[in-house]
Amino acid sequence: MHAMEFAGAHQPLHPTERPVRKPTGRNLLIRVGACGICRTDLHVIDGELEHPKARVIPGHEVVGRVVAMGPEARGFKIGERVGVPWLGFTCGRCHFCRSGRENLCDKPKFTGYTLDGGYAEYITADSHYSFPIPKIYSDAEAAPLMCAGLIGYRCWKLVRTAKRLGIYGFGAAAHIVAQIAKHHGQQVYAFTRSGDTAAQKLARSLGAVWAGSSEEMPPKLLDAAIIFASVGPLVPLALKALEKGGTLVLGGIHMSEIPAFSYDLLWEERIVRSVANLTRQDAIEFLRLAPRVPIRPHVTTYPLDEANEAIAVLRKGNLVGAAVLVPAACEGA
Ligand SMILES: [Zn+2]
Ligand SMILES: [Zn+2]
Repeated sequence: MHAMEFAGAHQPLHPTERPVRKPTGRNLLIRVGACGICRTDLHVIDGELEHPKARVIPGHEVVGRVVAMGPEARGFKIGERVGVPWLGFTCGRCHFCRSGRENLCDKPKFTGYTLDGGYAEYITADSHYSFPIPKIYSDAEAAPLMCAGLIGYRCWKLVRTAKRLGIYGFGAAAHIVAQIAKHHGQQVYAFTRSGDTAAQKLARSLGAVWAGSSEEMPPKLLDAAIIFASVGPLVPLALKALEKGGTLVLGGIHMSEIPAFSYDLLWEERIVRSVANLTRQDAIEFLRLAPRVPIRPHVTTYPLDEANEAIAVLRKGNLVGAAVLVPAACEGA
């Protein structure tokens, strides 16, 4: 099969051919229909996440069809559509796994980082960590649901009671969360890089009551905010915009250094917390909710071979919504 593999920090991904193997154990062999590009892939490619699998194939927003099943694979049929997220394996035995927090497992494996991911024509994935895809979505539309959507949903669950919700960094995750928030009657305030009128326009079209630059103060203080951009200096800016008792959720897996700030910004019971990975329960809940909203991801597709070009566009911030790679055989499908 054709795939794009990690060739070392800051190197372009390298096109390669790999054998397609019969799945063993609980694994599914999946023919990839689409794979989203997540910001975390950029952190893997830039060497900011330590100890990736050697020559790893990135990509953890994978949607495809089951073509073969290992003898112990459960829950799927040949030909069925399936999604593969970031969380690829948990130990099931550690303190965190046994207390409903498998997202914090001591010995996890992650798709497209410590396991080969979906920048390829085929992927092998554990059936216990794979999910059926709602019918209303095409493969390309469904791809960003598998991380931007899932992590966004896990962040949103922490701020679901907020009336006024700020979202900093209006990319793939934010444009999905804005749709969930609007569906639940929340007011969305969208913060983008200054001058990013395309992202602000998308935010307004999805029902945001206000859209502006991250340096601006919203017209009213916010009950909660989520930061999806991996930019540490946004933390004090977002705290400044928070009402007393407000919660600030940091949704990125990697963030640049957070500058020192005055205690005033945290005082009065404001909370700052991060969200790490996802649980399988998050995936089940979110994939049930998505078609009910219905969440409509905005996607731009690129051929798999143009992964490096697509990554460059995402890196520059010149992309509205989500970028999705499509293997050659699936183009136009
Ligand atoms: Zn564990
Ligand atoms: Zn991701």
